[in-house]
Amino acid sequence: MPRWRASDNDGVVSYRLARQRVIDAVEAGHRQQHEVCDAQPELRRVAHHHGTPLNDDCPICESDDLVLVTFAFGAGLPNAGRCVTDRSELMSLRRRGRPTTCYRVEVCRQCWWNHLRESFLLKNRPVAKSAP
Ligand SMILES: [Zn+2]
Repeated sequence: MPRWRASDNDGVVSYRLARQRVIDAVEAGHRQQHEVCDAQPELRRVAHHHGTPLNDDCPICESDDLVLVTFAFGAGLPNAGRCVTDRSELMSLRRRGRPTTCYRVEVCRQCWWNHLRESFLLKNRPVAKSAP
């Protein structure tokens, strides 16, 4: 599956520090594993069928079954967001020319750890017009 980079988009927000705080809290015993390994059924389903493998290990169980899933929110999209399964779908959303925000969530398919990794706004790219 071709990958796309968040850097191709505007307004990239990283949640790396918030993620690390959660991991630190688990490691320090201030939070229990079941509190952070709580992916909801729909997120589990999407991660199982459409997750893009990451090179990182799960920060909780150290499994190498950590995947990334992307959801798009914006006008004309379902209130619960649309799962973006590949680059062509992302490009299609971009061509709509409507404000769209994407959220990428990492999910471990072994222990169901999940955390928001980054969000970004889709850049609208001008559509090349063919000559008459
Ligand atoms: Zn895990």
